[in-house]
Amino acid sequence: MPLAAVAKESEVDVLIIGAGPAGVMCANALAMAGVNVRIIDQRPAKVAAGQADGIQPRTIEVLQSYGLGERLLREGNQMHMAAFYNPSPSGGIEVNRVAMVTLHQGAIEAIFLDSMKAHGVSVERPIAPTSIELSQSEEELKDPNAIPSRRVP
Ligand SMILES: Cc1cc2nc3c(=O)[nH]c(=O)nc-3n(C[C@H](O)[C@H](O)[C@H](O)COP(=O)(O)OP(=O)(O)OC[C@H]3O[C@@H](n4cnc5c(N)ncnc54)[C@H](O)[C@@H]3O)c2cc1C
Repeated sequence: MPLAAVAKESEVDVLIIGAGPAGVMCANALAMAGVNVRIIDQRPAKVAAGQADGIQPRTIEVLQSYGLGERLLREGNQMHMAAFYNPSPSGGIEVNRVAMVTLHQGAIEAIFLDSMKAHGVSVERPIAPTSIELSQSEEELKDPNAIPSRRVP
């Protein structure tokens, strides 16, 4: 399907281009905060499997702060000890031990996608902007109620 054929016009406070982990997490946070957000991605389908599979404890805490930690821990594989060997400042190698969860990227993104859906936001695919026009009017740019940029198509 041609990309332009599926694009629709809309007025939003935030347009997120790219529905990877950063985009879906941002869209979910904004949707939860009641911000009028739209998210698009040029890929026809979401990531189905691997890539970002290892989730550090601090990241788990961030998901917990959005109320999404329980599902992550339920669906993920919990690794109570993992050893990573890294260069040490003295020139040798040193071991870092961390406890973490592993869950494939498609499943992690699904947690955010489902949460976003509950707030009325879904990723629109496959859509890619061809250009973005920014208003040249200083007055419009300073007006918090104005929509001073326009995505084409
Ligand atoms: C093999 C592999 C293993 C990895 N393992 C781990 C791991 O274990 N742990 C970990 O934390 N990280 C891992 N990573 C890294 C992790 O996948 C990335 O850090 C993460 O995907 C980055 O997320 P992102 O949202 O910034 O970007 P991306 O995942 O790249 O998402 C960007 C999105 O934007 C879309 N896009 C780009 N340009 C446009 C455009 N012009 N218009 C519309 N859409 C657009 C793309 O289609 C894409 O969906 C791994 C990566 C790979 C490749």
